[in-house]
Amino acid sequence: MGNYKYITNRTLRNKNNEEKGRLKAFVRNGSDTAEGEYECPECGHKDRINQVWKRPFSVRCSKCGFLMKIPKLKNEIKKKG
Ligand SMILES: [Zn+2]
Repeated sequence: MGNYKYITNRTLRNKNNEEKGRLKAFVRNGSDTAEGEYECPECGHKDRINQVWKRPFSVRCSKCGFLMKIPKLKNEIKKKG
């Protein structure tokens, strides 16, 4: 797993606090681009992620505009080196 400095795989909640969507994202070592995919918890739209990596990480649904915020978790893979 040394090829990535960040990996996350989350279930997402919509405005009614229902777990409906999910998001997977990763950042390669030496890269500042987050790649992955998501399923929007609000509208069910699925799309790919390819955007500048920054914290706090969030992805906006390209269809309905819902903002999926990804809070930091303790069990995330820590950056090495
Ligand atoms: Zn959406």
